[in-house]
Amino acid sequence: MDIVLFGIQGSGKGTQGKIIADKYQMRIFETGAELRRLAKEDSSLGKKVKNLIEAGQLVPNEIVMEIIENFSKDFNKNEKVLFDGIPRKMEQAQSFDKLMKELNREFVCILMDISEKEAYRRLTTRRICEECKSVYPSTYEKEKCEKCQGKLITRQDDNPESIKVRLDSYYKETMPVIEYYEKTAKLYKINGEQKIDKVNNEIIELLDKIFT
Ligand SMILES: [Zn+2]
Repeated sequence: MDIVLFGIQGSGKGTQGKIIADKYQMRIFETGAELRRLAKEDSSLGKKVKNLIEAGQLVPNEIVMEIIENFSKDFNKNEKVLFDGIPRKMEQAQSFDKLMKELNREFVCILMDISEKEAYRRLTTRRICEECKSVYPSTYEKEKCEKCQGKLITRQDDNPESIKVRLDSYYKETMPVIEYYEKTAKLYKINGEQKIDKVNNEIIELLDKIFT
């Protein structure tokens, strides 16, 4: 059983995704990371990706699907995959369903649910480490990164205008996908506004059930 993890920016999706993948030995499929990895590869798909990135173009849907297909070729049926941030829009959801069917893989969806107001608050107050790019919420009061002692700064695109653009695109493009899976697949909601440990416990409780 694979997992498709949904959540607006600031929902803690990335953090939880890593914890889950670790605990259940799942492979994470995250489009951005996969694109960067492929761009370094000397394959025809790698070259395609590299050209698109260099041209600063968005990666078309067919190529995203080709990437997932390619990704899923090198693991066996028993391995579980955690899809992070994909499908992002309706046209992707349809191709994704088709591909998963062809690959004979089943999945359930988990939504890290937080309000738009909370997402906005978290994104406007978070800081990142200049060196290792670790993200720190406003509740972290120290001036330096816990991991590498780097300086903590506000990311340039964490300004109110660009945050608004990112949140708006989530509601416009990804929300319909979530509503679609509420109807056509299994979608579980986790209250992402709780403390990080509590969120994690809830997810683990849920996954323990799903995976048994
Ligand atoms: Zn750091």
